Amino acid sequence: AERLAVPRATTVFERMSALARETGSINLGQGFPDLPDPPELIAAAQRALAERSNQYPPMRGLAELRAGIAAFYAREQGQAIDPEKIVVTSGATEALAAALLALVAPRDEVILVQPCYDAYAPLVTRAGGTVRYVSLAPPHWTLDPAALAAALGPKTRGIVLNTPNNPVGTVLDRATLEAIGALCAAHDLWLVCDEVWEGMILDGTPHCSALDIPALAQRTVKIGSAGKIFSLTGWKVGWAVAAPPLAAAVAAQHQFLTFTTATPLQWAVAEGLALPPDWHRAHRQRYAAARAWLCDSLTAAGYCVLPASGTWFVTIDLAASGLPADDEAVAQRLIAEARVAAIPVSAFYAEQPERGFLRLCFAKDDVMLDEAAHRLAQFR
Ligand code: PMP
Ligand code: GLN
Repeated sequence: AERLAVPRATTVFERMSALARETGSINLGQGFPDLPDPPELIAAAQRALAERSNQYPPMRGLAELRAGIAAFYAREQGQAIDPEKIVVTSGATEALAAALLALVAPRDEVILVQPCYDAYAPLVTRAGGTVRYVSLAPPHWTLDPAALAAALGPKTRGIVLNTPNNPVGTVLDRATLEAIGALCAAHDLWLVCDEVWEGMILDGTPHCSALDIPALAQRTVKIGSAGKIFSLTGWKVGWAVAAPPLAAAVAAQHQFLTFTTATPLQWAVAEGLALPPDWHRAHRQRYAAARAWLCDSLTAAGYCVLPASGTWFVTIDLAASGLPADDEAVAQRLIAEARVAAIPVSAFYAEQPERGFLRLCFAKDDVMLDEAAHRLAQFR
């Protein structure tokens, strides 16, 4: 067992989902939607299975999908991206793995920003690197570039950022990214910017991509995911976008991780990305409505819901809600007493965790949200 690779435990998402199933709880833990799948995408996948290819696509992804991703970013974010910079992967998770295997050399130090997605640290470690943590400051979860600067050491080679952030739903603004750009340029650091939630900003805040910052454009690998844009988490179609030499290094890893990604789903995602901006707006609107509904119900029941811009999650401040600031214990009690599963935000920390916050997934239909809100109201 000593020789097993680093993470031996199952992820908090799997554990909470299993607990939710065993106890018959409403699962607001793991992030997956319980809303109807977009019919346009399902029809496109069925057509692709029947009429397109079911054999290997090109290693870097179908040309049609790469062109579609570029056109999507041009339309939605006003960003001109050459399809040559895009590598299609099996979900954002594989894009993260390929990027970190490409960028991290043994003993390199990488800065991660807590709370952060659980895949980053194991991937850095697997590439031979070591991790140093900087933390966002609650309750607004701001990132202080000076704190980042203070964490840099002689072995620091790169930073992993996530905007919008899972679990807390906040975004990094342009000024913060520019300050980070200046830091990366001064210390010759690379950046992996996980932007999988870019299509799920629900309060109208514009998404600022790291690739949009001149100082970062040549040193960033941006990560995207169709699973999040279309709320189809099981499709596992993602991508990395980077300047050509970086993209080539990512592709060199991708070719020996999965080599390619399901051909029919690539076709379907390409069709989906070409849907008009109104379609994407309406899709987001459905999630914004669910979020407003859950937030309003929780607020009415006396919970303190923290402000956030996007993702499928909201966090509640336990102490401000009159509950003990011990997120693990409250999550256990919520399952046992209210039959609602949530994710403790401390699970997104490796060091000095914040224990006062609980993450709830609102991407659920009205009936489920209604019942969950009712149970949560009784719990208090
Ligand atoms: N990064 C973040 C921040 C995520 O929240 C997720 C999925 N929850 C991923 C990466 C993984 O995305 P995918 O399912 O496309 O691999
Ligand atoms: N990203 C999803 C979440 O944050 C879960 C993904 C997973 O189960 N690994 O809930």
